[in-house]
Amino acid sequence: MDLFQLLPLPYAYDALEPYISEETLRIHHDKLLKAYVDNLNQILMAYPMYQHWTLEELICHNNFLPENIRIPVLRNAGGIYNHNFYFYGMTPDGINHPIRTLKDAIDRDFGSFDSFRKQFEQMAKSLFGSGYTWLTVQPDGKLLIVNTSNQDTVLPQLLTPILNIDVWEHAYFLQYKNKRINYIENWVLLIDWIQAESYYQYFLLNQQNG
Ligand code: MN
Repeated sequence: MDLFQLLPLPYAYDALEPYISEETLRIHHDKLLKAYVDNLNQILMAYPMYQHWTLEELICHNNFLPENIRIPVLRNAGGIYNHNFYFYGMTPDGINHPIRTLKDAIDRDFGSFDSFRKQFEQMAKSLFGSGYTWLTVQPDGKLLIVNTSNQDTVLPQLLTPILNIDVWEHAYFLQYKNKRINYIENWVLLIDWIQAESYYQYFLLNQQNG
């Protein structure tokens, strides 16, 4: 039995049209994400003592693993974590604006939703090479927009992720060619703000109990 499973998309392959094409989603999910899942399962097959570790543990406690598998585990576990966060952070039924506690935090830390959106788009546009742009929460509760390279996650920086966009070329090139900014602007319309709100509320709850 496989340790890690390829999670199905939470919507139909054509549900994000016209912003993200069916062809892009099929390749992105069924081929690229699947390869990360298969690779990680393959690597861990020979290491039963790490087979009950979660993705987060494989990433955050990577230095406890045997040296020869650290980098491949980090890359593949990160590839799964980042892609799941991305695919599950979008919805065809987007409401196009943050709500409740996250809305208040965005207004507090960025001035307004519009100003947040501009800063986020600028950050995603400026990412050099392959990676992700994230909206995160710092341990003190302040929101922060950050970029990560390749399949790095924000977890080792002790940031709690709220949203991410995959800006590897494979996420948009088939459809948008080199026009990354158009992809980013359209992705904003697909953000699942209810999901983002639930991540933020979960952070606040843990902070209260911490
Ligand atoms: Mn990707």
